[in-house]
Amino acid sequence: MAKCDLCELKEYTPWYASFTQPFHFAILDCDSCDTPMAVLREHRVELADQERAFIVEALSLVARAKYGEGEFIIDQVMRQIPDHFHMHARPTRFRGW
Ligand SMILES: [Zn+2]
Ligand SMILES: [Zn+2]
Repeated sequence: MAKCDLCELKEYTPWYASFTQPFHFAILDCDSCDTPMAVLREHRVELADQERAFIVEALSLVARAKYGEGEFIIDQVMRQIPDHFHMHARPTRFRGW
């Protein structure tokens, strides 16, 4: 069975939500980027359009509360682990400088 860091999600960082319906995914702070990230709780990368839309909606809700309306982008590029679906919400401005 394929295993990766995203399969073994650790609770090092704050978790915002853990969905079991309509499918399993979680939203938590990414420990390398320190921004909210949605992670599918299955080792696969292909998503149905409805699954993708549902995750974008849920992640946007969290990002809107954290950064404000229009102050973030949803980044679906999977740089480090390209074979396990995840996406980040990133602030559009630098913060804390
Ligand atoms: Zn995985
Ligand atoms: Zn990250």
